[in-house]
Amino acid sequence: MKNLNKELRNPATVKALLKKIKEFGPWPVTLMEVCGTHTMAIFRYGIKDMLPSNIRLLSGPGCPVCVTSLWTIDTALEIAKQPGVILTTFGDMVRVPGSRTSLAELKAAGIDLRIVYSPLDALQLAEENPAREVVFFAIGFETTAPTIAAAVLSSCERGINNFFILGSNKTVPQALKVLLTGSDVKVDGLICPGHVSTVIGSKPYEFIPREMGIPAVITGFEPVDILQGILLIINQIKSDAPRVEIQYRRGVDKEGNTHALALLYQVFEPADGYWRGLGEIPGTGLKIKKEYRDYDAALRFPVRVPKMKEPVGCRCGDVLRGAITPLECPLFNNSCHPEKPVGACMVSMEGICAAYYKYGK
Ligand code: SF4
Repeated sequence: MKNLNKELRNPATVKALLKKIKEFGPWPVTLMEVCGTHTMAIFRYGIKDMLPSNIRLLSGPGCPVCVTSLWTIDTALEIAKQPGVILTTFGDMVRVPGSRTSLAELKAAGIDLRIVYSPLDALQLAEENPAREVVFFAIGFETTAPTIAAAVLSSCERGINNFFILGSNKTVPQALKVLLTGSDVKVDGLICPGHVSTVIGSKPYEFIPREMGIPAVITGFEPVDILQGILLIINQIKSDAPRVEIQYRRGVDKEGNTHALALLYQVFEPADGYWRGLGEIPGTGLKIKKEYRDYDAALRFPVRVPKMKEPVGCRCGDVLRGAITPLECPLFNNSCHPEKPVGACMVSMEGICAAYYKYGK
């Protein structure tokens, strides 16, 4: 693994790839990545600055924390306040502002909040605390949903009945369709998400070249991966032959992980999903199936939460669509910074505003 990483960060290979990319010519193209890990890798390795100025990289809605709606966060905050509840979630979610407060502030005020690395940790907590009700606030895309499904199935098998899921998982391909058909930004090629694709494979992206006429390339996360992915895209643009290609062959194949997909769809079914920045998109949410409704935190804790507006001045929605960069948000590095974030994109480790703040300067 160490050797592979070394190879994928090899300066000579990077140089050679950049040389080939520069041969593309002067035509301006905009490529978009839709994966928070890609966003951070692109910034961390300074890939934007290495590319010729006519090749523009834009970030899309690839950070699962950032696309989670304000209403969903407010619902989690309300459930966290219910007597006897232990709310568990990933660390990234803790400081994300809801409309009035955040989980971090509620924890300081006394709620029982635990950070977990996996829904299986939350299940373990439920088993160890039978007198409490343990809610896992689930966010993420197809990548995390199979593990959440596995936790529900394991809970079922072990007869643990104080474990619940507040589900906000989303599925990516249809959201890409909405993003690419929106009028905000013209994208000439898509860098498809690596992690999501390990689960769903490459087939679900086939509509992108077919219907949108642009290349879609699944890449890994190291500098050589990303540059190879960019080279594949621009070669497709040059030859006017858009298709789906897999650069990240060590992680992704055409069919995806059929076992993980079977687990996912054993417990969840497609539903409407609300994406910050893109709105409601039919079929892009995942809801717990009737057979497993006993695990649905939304049914166990039917809290009433009004739909609130995004914080005044926050442009997270526009940033997530690629319509503006964080630098165009008037709050960036003024009233919004990592110590005092106004929007989700400044909090998450994979947030676009956080990446600009950390590396953009
Ligand atoms: Fe939202 Fe802050 Fe980003 Fe502006 S800088 S879009 S307020 S997170």
